Amino acid sequence: MDRRNFIASAGMLAAAGAAAPMLQGCSEADPMLRGAKVDVKESYKCQLLVVGGGPAGVCAAVSAARRGIKTMLVDSGNCLGGMGTKGLVGPFMTCYDAKGERMIIRGLFEEIVDRLIAVGGAIHPSKIRQGTEYTAWISEGHDHVTPFDPELLKVVYDHLCKEAGVKVLYNSMFLKPIMKGSNIAGAVFLTPSGLEAAAADMVIDATGDGTVAFRAGAPCVFGDPENNRVQPASLFFRMNNIDTPRLIAEVVPHLPEFRRVNGVSYRCLHWRVAEAEAAGEWDLARKSVNIWRSVEEDQWVVNCTRIHGVDPTDAENLSAAEEEGRRQVQELMHFFRKYVPGCEKATLMGTGSVMGIRESRHVHGDFVLPVQDLIDGLIPEDTILLSANSIDVHGAMGGPAGGLYMPIKKDMYGIPYRVLLPKGVGNLLLAGRCVSADSAAAGAIRVMPPAMALGQAAGTAAALSLLRGTTPQNLDFGDLRAALVADKAYLGE
Ligand SMILES: Cc1cc2nc3c(=O)[nH]c(=O)nc-3n(C[C@H](O)[C@H](O)[C@H](O)COP(=O)(O)OP(=O)(O)OC[C@H]3O[C@@H](n4cnc5c(N)ncnc54)[C@H](O)[C@@H]3O)c2cc1C
Repeated sequence: MDRRNFIASAGMLAAAGAAAPMLQGCSEADPMLRGAKVDVKESYKCQLLVVGGGPAGVCAAVSAARRGIKTMLVDSGNCLGGMGTKGLVGPFMTCYDAKGERMIIRGLFEEIVDRLIAVGGAIHPSKIRQGTEYTAWISEGHDHVTPFDPELLKVVYDHLCKEAGVKVLYNSMFLKPIMKGSNIAGAVFLTPSGLEAAAADMVIDATGDGTVAFRAGAPCVFGDPENNRVQPASLFFRMNNIDTPRLIAEVVPHLPEFRRVNGVSYRCLHWRVAEAEAAGEWDLARKSVNIWRSVEEDQWVVNCTRIHGVDPTDAENLSAAEEEGRRQVQELMHFFRKYVPGCEKATLMGTGSVMGIRESRHVHGDFVLPVQDLIDGLIPEDTILLSANSIDVHGAMGGPAGGLYMPIKKDMYGIPYRVLLPKGVGNLLLAGRCVSADSAAAGAIRVMPPAMALGQAAGTAAALSLLRGTTPQNLDFGDLRAALVADKAYLGE
């Protein structure tokens, strides 16, 4: 039996053999659960189920648990942090306003940064300026990023969840929701113990791909529906044994040559890429590289591989991309060792254990955030976070270049609460990359500091809805705003 059939039949087999009352009750409402012969253990019961333990999911779960909500956080991997840990993605993109004067993403994000700094795992964003080695020498839209150590971030997330009383379940893949009318009554997971179910009063989808919302029947679009494309994927890697002073000395004299021609960036080490290309030792779809100095002096984060047309919701497509990512990493390591002064002894510390997915499904609500609102610097009344991240859509045209990079015109823009509310599923909130936004708007708010703030807002809204006995749709926004401000989120003066 192939994987797809196994999952389909596992779902179909689940309910009839299940003794659990929740599953028997829900099987009638869910045709996929009829005729079951395999047990699904009803192992867990919680008030709030958060699916996906990336930056958004962690912040959602911690925010809710700190308000006394019995919260469970489930992730398919073996640690929390999503792209920032398993994916080796970093640094945290900017949390400052567009002038680089004020830290505007605070709350749990700031607490995480402070905890990282306390264990030597990050450099405070106030100390990091754009146009330096910490920003791949990019000089716009990258002021005050936060370099961090992914291993220490895992531990910080562990502590945060433990202290807040979040029940965390690793290595557990969400398969399907158990629907009760238009609400989610629980979910089935494939865990190391088998098929297990968790009953929940409310659910947050923090899977990045919007998998819970999609399987619960909420409307979704894949990438940019105008051209049915998604941003390219990138397999991140980290390297060390770099002679950082020599590498910096190699790059800095070339800074005046950095340019963008017909959408193609000629930035860091473009002169070395040209040499490798001339020697027939470069076949990557880019003319320069993105390397970011990390917390330790000799460690650098490399964001250079580029794989087009990756669909993380398609197992075979994703599998092919994983191999192509590793091939590109080897080619890049050869390039750094052979062509780049200071990198002769570079060691590959590791590649991400998951492919770096910039874009997949966008779940839609009644309101879909248009990119124009960000460009215009709109700050709606129901703003849950302020941000100034640029609109950064990599190579959306499918070629080596293209894409859209647009610094915003005002100091900041506000993201409204409405982006967290999917259409048609009453007790589900969205958090992180999958929120209700158009493709270009998502290109701005997909980065980790906004993802954490979206998670904090979703977890707080879920908690308040449960405590007040209302739905996220009917929650009083004034109540939510006051709770976010009390928890040190910055929502303006
Ligand atoms: C190539 C690339 C470069 C980037 N560069 C930066 C950068 O420099 N700075 C920055 O701040 N941001 C950057 N980002 C963006 C950022 O990393 C992500 O958009 C952000 O992590 C989104 O957070 P999230 O919590 O929504 O999703 P994720 O971080 O993707 O976390 C989702 C979690 O859900 C889990 N999950 C998914 N499906 C299931 C399931 N069915 N069952 C159980 N668990 C599931 C996943 O395992 C994962 O742990 C980059 C992203 C990419 C891909």
